[in-house]
Amino acid sequence: MATGMRPAVVGELPRSLYLETTNRCDSKCQTCVRTFRTLEPPADLTLERARAIAEQFPRLDRVVLHGIGEPLLNPEIFAIIAFFKTRAGSVLFNSDAISLTPGRAARLIESGLDEYRVSVDAATRATYRRVRGVDQFDRVVGNVRGLVERQRETSRTTPRVSLWFTASRVNVDELPAFVDLAADLGVAEVYVQRLVFNDLGLATEANALHGRLRLRERARLDGREPDEEEVERKVRELLETVELDESADAMPADLSTGMKRAVAVARALAAEPDCILYDEPTTMVDPLMAATITALILRLKEKFRKTSIVVTHDVRLAERVADRLVMLCDGRVCFFGTAEEWQASADPEVESFRTLDAMPSAQ
Ligand code: SF4
Repeated sequence: MATGMRPAVVGELPRSLYLETTNRCDSKCQTCVRTFRTLEPPADLTLERARAIAEQFPRLDRVVLHGIGEPLLNPEIFAIIAFFKTRAGSVLFNSDAISLTPGRAARLIESGLDEYRVSVDAATRATYRRVRGVDQFDRVVGNVRGLVERQRETSRTTPRVSLWFTASRVNVDELPAFVDLAADLGVAEVYVQRLVFNDLGLATEANALHGRLRLRERARLDGREPDEEEVERKVRELLETVELDESADAMPADLSTGMKRAVAVARALAAEPDCILYDEPTTMVDPLMAATITALILRLKEKFRKTSIVVTHDVRLAERVADRLVMLCDGRVCFFGTAEEWQASADPEVESFRTLDAMPSAQ
């Protein structure tokens, strides 16, 4: 077993506990599986059961009290928080803050909760309604404002309040205004998380941004108004570079694995990087596509003259594209040199790798 891997059986029980305190919710997020599918009858975690679970873990550092569902709807949530504060250094949860009435805000502060994360996903009422499925933007903003003001009045610094934004094509333009909203509310922390898509509602691949920000969206986030002509020209140029200009209007789902990788390269080039890092570019593609990707890497290397680092176990790719090869064995460098030197190396680890790679079963 390589060093650094986890053992098959851990030496001690977990010290971080995630508990779903209810599966009921007062939002209908268009990105949430709960909105579209009922997987189980409504239920709340009781204090008694929380205690029974906690007894099984002698040492706890952190307890997270959210899963699918709104924790504030659990009638015992404040007692559960107070109990876990006697057992763990940090207790926190995510919330939609719809039911964060002034009374609950006061109890939340008194409960000792360390962190209160409010999922908002929008800076306007219309986008909030579209993403979260309910018309509660003004109420949520008012509730969070009330909580922060009460903390100020009582000189309390906990819970640490933060606003959360699941970024997608639907709301990304509101991100700068979202940061302004947090500042206006007196909330010091904003977190952006990526959309995990499951093809339900708005949680689709076409809506996801992770690694696929369009130029015009990037320009807006940089605070610039995009020049549409410049955007179109740049997109064409990049697609030509990766030889995908004829597929410019195709949807992601219509592209082959190799084409998707070429698009990923075009996206990376749009940011005009100093260095390009390819992580296993030929994994899970057929030999023809592997040859196409290899040719693309070579072409870009010659065209842009940028430093490229390719992480791969594909010897043929490495030999074709690399000026220098680095081979890692158990976390240390066991070879550094040219492809010719690698082929001639008498190092036992290099020889063993070469032999295994040449065997038919290793192809
Ligand atoms: S608040 Fe959470 S549990 Fe409720 S619908 Fe939204 S994502 Fe789902």
